[in-house]
Amino acid sequence: MSFRFQIEARDSAARAGRFFTPHGEVQTPVFMPVGTLATVKGVPQDTLEELGVQILLNNTYHLYLRPGVEMVRQLGGVQKFMAWDRPILTDSGGFQVFSLSDLRKVTEEGVAFRSHLDGSSHFFSPESAIAAEIGLGADIIMAFDECTEHPAEYKRTQDSMEMTLRWARRSKEYFEVHKSEAPWFAERHGQTQTLFGIVQGGMFPDLRRESAQRTVELDFPGYAIGGLSVGEPRPMTYEMVDAAIRFLPEAKPRYLMGVGTPEEIVHYVAAGVDMMDCVLPTRAARHGLLFTSEGRVTIKNARFAADEGPIDPACRCKVCARYSRAYLRHLYASNELLAQTLNTIHNLAYYLDTMRRVRQAIVLGDFAKVLSGVRPPHLSVP
Ligand SMILES: [Zn+2]
Repeated sequence: MSFRFQIEARDSAARAGRFFTPHGEVQTPVFMPVGTLATVKGVPQDTLEELGVQILLNNTYHLYLRPGVEMVRQLGGVQKFMAWDRPILTDSGGFQVFSLSDLRKVTEEGVAFRSHLDGSSHFFSPESAIAAEIGLGADIIMAFDECTEHPAEYKRTQDSMEMTLRWARRSKEYFEVHKSEAPWFAERHGQTQTLFGIVQGGMFPDLRRESAQRTVELDFPGYAIGGLSVGEPRPMTYEMVDAAIRFLPEAKPRYLMGVGTPEEIVHYVAAGVDMMDCVLPTRAARHGLLFTSEGRVTIKNARFAADEGPIDPACRCKVCARYSRAYLRHLYASNELLAQTLNTIHNLAYYLDTMRRVRQAIVLGDFAKVLSGVRPPHLSVP
């Protein structure tokens, strides 16, 4: 059995569980740090392990362009390549093609696009995107979808959703034929990757519902809600999650792609989400924005110049245990590399601790208390 999900506790719609992959087990709800190019920028893998990172996200689009799928495959797959012997999830490349590449042309067959690196021409179809994900060898891979732009008219959104459904079917058909081609298939005793489907439907609740129902008919081991956090107001994100999630099966993991702030992730767990990823903690850290139990800290602020206290007195991460705000401000102001590393470690610790606290609360049946202490998402400042 290559993938198994079990729910161990429920508190209203929130669930605590775990899933099993060829590279190990993941406790849910889980936050997945983004390691775009097979690295969480500035943080070595042993530190990620110390932080308790259970699963990383890598971006297929970026690894496909550099170093290339064939190279990663020859090197044993992305886990071996990046010396990370824990689970990895890859996106399908769809979102990056839509957000980063130039001159893309979408047809029923797939998407022609130019690399944001050198302008070279490429083509992703559901089949070639899944082939790339199989070559990279992540434990969980995503169906190829079209991320509908925002804003978009109803008809345009509906057509896009229909195409994503056709692409989901093609993704699955290709995967079923080729799933034994993961680089580590033999050494992991015939275990395979796991393919998740993606719900689209833009900002229309009825399309979200229909996309959820018809993606579920295609029968995937897990389902993602995609196409959110694309510039819409937060209450709308919430409404779309709600519209889709009630039609996703209880017994399978639900993955909300590309969200959110520390407050938002708690509320999405309350809505029944099991998995989330977001660049926010890592990207914000590189810009000197730190998340703490007392709110946001902009470390470059002059008022920290002589501050001997830690980033967050309530945080137990190794950065807060050792370094002062004054030192971190100095590093940031001097544009030192260590600033990025230390800031990122703290922000990841904050997100991971938040998720651990949430999971514990669900298991103990007092999640409502945690939730009531967290500002509603529409009030949170990104
Ligand atoms: Zn800390």
